Amino acid sequence: MQLTLWSYEGPPHIGAMRVVASMDGVHLVLHAPQGDTYADLLFTMIERRGTRPPVTYTTFQARELGGDTAELVKTSVGEAFERFKPRVLLVGEACTAELIQDQPGALARGMGLPVPVLSLELPAYARKECWGANETFYQLVRGLLKPRVPEAGRHPEPRPADRRPRANLLGPTTLGFRCRDDVEEVTRLLASVGVDVHVVAPLGATPEDLLRIPEADFNVCLYPETADQTCLWLERMFGQPTVKTVPIGIGATRDFLDEVGRIAGIEVADAKSPISSRMPWYSRSVDSTYLTGKRVFIFADATHAVAAARMCAEELGFTVVGIGTYAREFARDVRECAKRYGVEPLITDDYLEVEKRAAELQPELMLGTQMERHIAKRLGIPCAVISAPVHVQDFPARYAPQMGFEGANVIFDTWVHPLMMGLEEHLITMFREDFEFHDAATPSHLGSRVGTRRPAEAGSQAAVESADSPMQADASTITWAAEAEQELKKIPFFVRGKARRNTERFAEEQGIQTITVETLYDAKAHFGR
Ligand code: SF4
Repeated sequence: MQLTLWSYEGPPHIGAMRVVASMDGVHLVLHAPQGDTYADLLFTMIERRGTRPPVTYTTFQARELGGDTAELVKTSVGEAFERFKPRVLLVGEACTAELIQDQPGALARGMGLPVPVLSLELPAYARKECWGANETFYQLVRGLLKPRVPEAGRHPEPRPADRRPRANLLGPTTLGFRCRDDVEEVTRLLASVGVDVHVVAPLGATPEDLLRIPEADFNVCLYPETADQTCLWLERMFGQPTVKTVPIGIGATRDFLDEVGRIAGIEVADAKSPISSRMPWYSRSVDSTYLTGKRVFIFADATHAVAAARMCAEELGFTVVGIGTYAREFARDVRECAKRYGVEPLITDDYLEVEKRAAELQPELMLGTQMERHIAKRLGIPCAVISAPVHVQDFPARYAPQMGFEGANVIFDTWVHPLMMGLEEHLITMFREDFEFHDAATPSHLGSRVGTRRPAEAGSQAAVESADSPMQADASTITWAAEAEQELKKIPFFVRGKARRNTERFAEEQGIQTITVETLYDAKAHFGR
């Protein structure tokens, strides 16, 4: 048992739903208790789809558990087939149904339907949503393409010299973070180097499209969390190479084009200059100088976390002080990335641990999911969302990719927006008693009435106050003398939280009970060494 209030991912059948809801002509019959239809709202409200996802639930009730729930599966499969006429039928179970073990996949396959019926094994007590999507996509592609796998040793035909190279974009799904616009941006990017997009899947694909996948020269694994298994299988079975660089950020987009060039055997040098992105100039312009060294804590899915860390360190001049992910399957990528930036990786799906780490690190900016937005709000730290899980505002009406050169523009604006602007930051440090531009005021570009910002220092205090805060024990034994508190206030608000934490840590190490002005400066000298 694990006490859970917030969960970064849903159960694996939600991942399966994301794949079928992305496609046309595929239907999922889900053996699930009454009430599981809540998941429809993710698609109709958060993603604001105009149609229900193509899912039929068996919706068994408590009184049916004594009877024949297997019969219910067969009726639901029959009715779903008659009504929706899918070209492929998937059958899976939600968590509760997994316990009754009705084997719905086998039951459906035994019904002799005239279309492919694929059964999904979704271990709901061991795996999560992204794994479910990855597995479902893989089973679909494998189920449809297995009869077409060439004999071992037969290599794909080389591309005729007069045909442009073509690529499949694999991995985008409904409820994926900015997938809709990323696909458009990457399609444009590939077109700029003379590569055509052949099949995009699962988003917008049909079963017939999946059958055309092997005709492309290579695959682009846009979202490893949902497509790495499929890409690996296609590589093994059809000899289709995979472009693995995810083009988020200017550097990564250039590397992506390099990899495309290498795999497709084409020249990409001219297209690599990011004339269509303003981000490199914006981040070099003098207004961005004050961004240098801003301390950032990143927590997200692995792909977006690793991409964000590179952008922070190499393109925006931030300092990465922490990085983590909730996606255990991709923990290795994040660990390697953490090593590159000399920070401790955090691999957890417990948001309380993320909150604890944020309170310890006292970053000046958090980049994360919807959960980090809440954590940052409690700690008074500016925050921007970079990855799922996200809420409705991150399925925007406007064009808002993360990938490619335009994606870098969007990211620059999004990440800088929550920070106090340079001039205001400077003025507040100089005139901290001003009635309007005081330490605890919200940055004025975010609106004066949106509530009082709790500066990073208050964040430390909030964490101390919180009953489950790990900091309570240490901090409770240490007190601050009034003059030391006054002196602490002279430190600019955005680094004050860090100074407070460091001083408390120093006092604890030295066995000091009351922090004086002298302790404050001793700690400064100690950590400044
Ligand atoms: S079956 Fe799983 S997803 Fe459905 S209500 Fe129960 S715990 Fe939630």
